Amino acid sequence: MKILVLNCGSSSLKYQLIDGDTEELLAKGLCERIGIDGALTHEPTGKDKVSFTDPLPDHKVAVSRVLEVLLDPEYGVIKSVDEIGACGHRIVHGGEYFANSVLITDEVKDAIDKCSELAPLHNPANLIGINACEEIMPNVPQVAVFDTAFHQTMPERAYLYAIPYKYYEKYKIRKYGFHGTSHMYVSRVAADMMDIPIEELKIITCHLGNGASICAVRNGISIDTSMGFTPLDGIAMGTRSGSIDPAVVLFLMKKEGLSVDDMDRILNKESGVLGISGVSSDFRDIEEAQNEGNPHAATALDTFAYRVAKTIGEYVATMKGVDAIVFTAGLGENSSSMRLLICDYLRYLGIELDSYKNSLRGKPVEITTKQSRVQVFVIPTNEELVIARDTKEIVDKLGK
Ligand code: AMP
Repeated sequence: MKILVLNCGSSSLKYQLIDGDTEELLAKGLCERIGIDGALTHEPTGKDKVSFTDPLPDHKVAVSRVLEVLLDPEYGVIKSVDEIGACGHRIVHGGEYFANSVLITDEVKDAIDKCSELAPLHNPANLIGINACEEIMPNVPQVAVFDTAFHQTMPERAYLYAIPYKYYEKYKIRKYGFHGTSHMYVSRVAADMMDIPIEELKIITCHLGNGASICAVRNGISIDTSMGFTPLDGIAMGTRSGSIDPAVVLFLMKKEGLSVDDMDRILNKESGVLGISGVSSDFRDIEEAQNEGNPHAATALDTFAYRVAKTIGEYVATMKGVDAIVFTAGLGENSSSMRLLICDYLRYLGIELDSYKNSLRGKPVEITTKQSRVQVFVIPTNEELVIARDTKEIVDKLGK
């Protein structure tokens, strides 16, 4: 069975076609500027990448175009739409409704819609993608895989905020956590690499990309994570502040006469390592600026590393120990200097990096020496593969 994995944003649609049996990636691509003008990049495995700029007025047209390129005699990878056995959708927020992936029904769509208040930029776009697929492929089962689901195992003491309880009851204000699919995937790969059942391990996973979060995975389940009610919480990120004293928000609003929207923009778009360095939100640019002697760039990188290390320390305390630490996502997978900076703060744990292994890229690797008391891994994440696996498992059960 071939599975079309979709990740719909408000003006974008990322897709992968995965063979559910062999787990081989058949093609991947990206529709951008949907509703503006339109651009589609399609990368069939083993063939040249192609790009198009046909108009993409809405997501339905984008899904139709994706099917057209997948079926194209020259750069396509399938001969008939019937080869697509299921669609798996990445859904950002499942609230308290979903602790697992589910087959999409009208009730599931209603629940995703109810969570839109919690993820106003993402859930409505995810729903548009689901509706577009339902219209174009009415007989193909659709599965929802949630970014928040893995963290639904967190205990109350980890997810409750110390604000009046009525706000949890009234608005479901609590920590949800995000990047769950990624944290789950890399923790399982790490356990496989260690050849120890995940149920016996304490693992801290660090998803460090433009958005960044850390997760404490004990016995295979998430018991705490750094993102919160929204993806703004936790460690500093590319443009997001991460946790700050909430009083700073009130102070700034009063002093500068800022509106709620102004504050939202400052905390989400103008803060993080961009805010501190004044250089860029891209870690490559900041590392370059640091190498050219820019002191603000150096401070931004050190602040980031310090906060990652501090959160790891918290989770070591929470789990009463740690067996393995995993780095993943754009920065975690690619920046050996950032990993070094973070692990330098963690020497007290008996961590010893192997500098050659730390310089390797592109495949799962342990980067610590044999003597290191905690094993550290770099594991490329693969959220799409998890979505394809969950989708196949759910759809396979339908046939039984
Ligand atoms: P992601 O959100 O997972 O795509 O990660 C994007 C982030 O990874 C960006 O901030 C990039 O700067 C960072 N990144 C990607 N490649 C590298 C690299 N070679 N060195 C440092 N940072 C990188």
